[in-house]
Amino acid sequence: MMLYREIGLLHEYSPYWLLRLWGSSDRLVALSRRLYYGGGGYRGWEEKCRKMERWPLSKIEEFQLKGIQKLVRHCYENVPYYSRLFKKLGLLPSDIRCLEDLEKLPVLTKNDVLDHYPEFFARNMSKSWKYHQQTSGTTGRPAMFYRDEGAAAAFIGSCDYFGMMSPNEMRKTRALIFSRWAIWSLLYRRYNPIFSRFSPVTGGVYVSDLPLGDSTFELCARYIKKFNIQRIYGFPSAVYAFAKYVERKNLSTNIKAILCGSEILYEGQRSVIEKAFGCEVFDWYTSSECVVNACECEKHAGLHITPFSVVNIDPSKVGKAVGRIVFTSMASYLMPLLRYTAGDVGSITYKRCACGRSYPRLRRIEGRTNDFVILPNGQYIHPVKFYMYPVEIKGIEDIYFLQHEDYSMDISVVKEKGVDKRELAQIIGRRFSKTTRGVLPFSVRFTDAIRRSSKKYRIVDTKVVSDLNMPRKRG
Ligand SMILES: [Zn+2]
Repeated sequence: MMLYREIGLLHEYSPYWLLRLWGSSDRLVALSRRLYYGGGGYRGWEEKCRKMERWPLSKIEEFQLKGIQKLVRHCYENVPYYSRLFKKLGLLPSDIRCLEDLEKLPVLTKNDVLDHYPEFFARNMSKSWKYHQQTSGTTGRPAMFYRDEGAAAAFIGSCDYFGMMSPNEMRKTRALIFSRWAIWSLLYRRYNPIFSRFSPVTGGVYVSDLPLGDSTFELCARYIKKFNIQRIYGFPSAVYAFAKYVERKNLSTNIKAILCGSEILYEGQRSVIEKAFGCEVFDWYTSSECVVNACECEKHAGLHITPFSVVNIDPSKVGKAVGRIVFTSMASYLMPLLRYTAGDVGSITYKRCACGRSYPRLRRIEGRTNDFVILPNGQYIHPVKFYMYPVEIKGIEDIYFLQHEDYSMDISVVKEKGVDKRELAQIIGRRFSKTTRGVLPFSVRFTDAIRRSSKKYRIVDTKVVSDLNMPRKRG
């Protein structure tokens, strides 16, 4: 039984003094976390992550294989979709003798899940009192992704482990969280007023990531002081925008570490953020289905993947060393997803990291594949080119590129105060022609605030259908 909704409501409606009291007792926080996540299993996973981090890779894979074999047997016996799939492929659970054998199964996308939705639930488990999150596919059919206690424990345990991994023991300090974050954001479904309450369960002060602007950042800065906040979690683009504000206002904060996730973190963004706050930025990768969790260590040389999920690369879509990232969580039994992809592209290194940890590392995550801008000849342009505009062109507060089906591009710009519109439009135009080799028609439009079609704080969206772009709902 996962009481996240009930505890979320208590957080939402309790006065701050009560929440502070609640958060000041370690035992009370531990109890609320157990109720919230449906048990204390996350502590076991945190322990495992720490214990196994220096094991030889072969021993880690042995551990994973055992978990996967057990899960596959469960899928075969209890999950209709997989019973059928295994029969169709002429496979038995005993055919999965090593982790590579998983590749006998096809890659699963969100749309596959939506097409066969009821068949993904284990017949021997109940859906009630489980964590679920709404999502939609190409046709916009809504569906709930369900996570049971085991899946939540693995995910939260590895989040806690990342807190331990940081030299600053981030977990013990308070956080400013730009919300819509996995399980935690569910605490705060209502984004009005902008600031929600403090949550004793996560130690976080939540702020809605949209709309962003000076008034939001002013409040962020005030809350950082008031709550003695020492860490920040958020989308890189949101944290970057906040960093620019901090820089512009010449503010000093006591931030010790920043975790960026849910979209690509570019080096240009990282250096601006690190300079503004005077601390390290850690890149974090996860999926809203909670089937993978990977985070940078202090060496910042790729993202260590925690062992509850087996991750590999499906190169058939992109290239030899780089491909779609495919993952299987061994901890998810209610709605298991074998070889699931969220469409992100990247590579993996299995070499031991300079930090001494042996967990494989995700590298070169190229972002949601639909972020690539497509040229009429089928070539594509990496979104990093566009993310760099506000970093490298002075006077841009916010920018958004929307490519239409006919390849033309709408560029929406929020300019900084006192900047000449015509001049800025010319600079952007020249740069855009260069980036796109002059083959894309475009228009630059100034606005006070940007309305994005996607929920994530993207800079680039394309409506052109291409192999590289995952099918999705049009905004
Ligand atoms: Zn490392």
